[in-house]
Amino acid sequence: MSSLKIKHVQKVYSNGFKAISDFNLDIDDKEFIIFVGPSGCGKTTMLRMIAGLETISAGELYIDDKLVNDVEPKDRDIAMVFQSYALYPHMTVYDNMAFSQKLKKVDKDVIDQKVKKAAKILEIEHLLDRKPGQLSGGQRQRVAMGRAIVRNPKVFLMDEPLSNLDAKLRSQMRVELNKLHKDLGATIIYVTHDQVEAMTLGTRIVVINHGEIMQVDTPKNLYDHPKNMFVATFIGSPQMNLIDAMVAKNGDTCELCFGTSRITLAKDKSKALIQGDYVEKKIVLGIRPEDFKVLEKDDDVTQNIVNVKVSVYENMGSEGYLYFELEKQNLVAKLAKNNQYEIGEQLKLKVNAHNVHLFDIDTKQSIM
Ligand code: ATP
Repeated sequence: MSSLKIKHVQKVYSNGFKAISDFNLDIDDKEFIIFVGPSGCGKTTMLRMIAGLETISAGELYIDDKLVNDVEPKDRDIAMVFQSYALYPHMTVYDNMAFSQKLKKVDKDVIDQKVKKAAKILEIEHLLDRKPGQLSGGQRQRVAMGRAIVRNPKVFLMDEPLSNLDAKLRSQMRVELNKLHKDLGATIIYVTHDQVEAMTLGTRIVVINHGEIMQVDTPKNLYDHPKNMFVATFIGSPQMNLIDAMVAKNGDTCELCFGTSRITLAKDKSKALIQGDYVEKKIVLGIRPEDFKVLEKDDDVTQNIVNVKVSVYENMGSEGYLYFELEKQNLVAKLAKNNQYEIGEQLKLKVNAHNVHLFDIDTKQSIM
C-alpha cells in the first residue's frame, strides 16, 4: 500500500471558478482518511485530482514519493468506488470482479484466486454466477468493492460509496469497511456526508470548506478540540449551540454572562481568557447539546444553572432532543433520559462548564 503527499494543490475550472485553493496534506500508508464538508466544498474535485480524472491547476501530488501530476489515471494504481456502483450489467459478478485483471492479461489461475479471496472477505462467494440485476443494492455495493479489492491498488478512493443503501445496510457495510481496512492494510480516502461514517471509519478526518482545509485531526480531537466555529458546528449532531457572552473576571476565575445567565469557568479556560485579553469583552460560547443536563429535584447544585423554556421535545427512543429558549436564543439539548416535556414548560438545565468551547467573536477561531 501507499502514502500520498498533496502539496499546495489548487483547482481552477475552465470557467475560472476556484474549487480548491492551496490544499496541503500528507497521508501515511494504511491511513483511512475522510473528506467531509458542505455540498460544493470541493471533496469530489480533490478525489478526482488524486485519481487523475481532473487536471491539477497548481501544486504537486506525490504517490509513494513519485510526482504523479502528469501520470495517466490507469498508471496511478488507484481504484475508485463511486456512489453509483457502475457494474457491467451483462457480466456475472465473477467477470465484473475479474475484468481489470483480464485486461492486464494476468494468468487465469491467479485471477481466480484473487476473485475468490475478495469474494470471501466480502461474503459474496454464493453470488459469483449472478448478474448485477439479480442482486440487492447492498450486494451490488459489495461487488463494486470486490472489483476494487481484486485490483489490489496502491490507494482506494471512495466517493460516498454507501449513500444509496438503507440505514441497516449502511451500518452493516460500515462494519465491513472497518474490517476490510484492517484486513487489507489499505490506504483509503473516503468522501462522505455522513457524520457517523466519518467518526467511526476515519483514522483522520479532513474538514473542508470553500476549497480550503479547516482542520485535519482524529475524530476525537475534532470533536473535543475544534479549531474554529466552522468545525465546531460541522462535527457533532445536533450541532453545537453558539451564544454571544460577555467575559467578567472574579479573581482568577472568569464568568461568561449572557442575559441573566452566568457560567463559571474552570481555571484553564479562565486563564486563557485573561491571558488573551478578553476580560470585559464579548466572545462566543459554544455548548454541545450533550453538555446540558436537566436539574433533578434532589440535585443541590447552584452553579452553572440556566432557566429555559421548552419549545419542542423530540423523543428519539434512547435519547431526546430538547429545543428551548434561553435568553431569547433557540438552543438544543441532547438528553439521555427518555422523559416527556411539554411545550412552554420551564426547566432548569445544568451546563457542564468543563466542556464548553470559547471562540473569538471576530476571527471565529478557538481561544483555547
Ligand atoms: P457534494 O458534496 O455536493 O458532492 P463536493 O464537495 O464534492 O460537493 P465538488 O463536486 O468537488 O463538491 O465541487 C466543488 C465546486 O466546484 C462546486 O462549487 C461545483 O459547482 C464546482 N464545479 C465542479 N465541477 C465543475 C466544473 N466542471 N466546472 C466548474 N465548476 C465546477
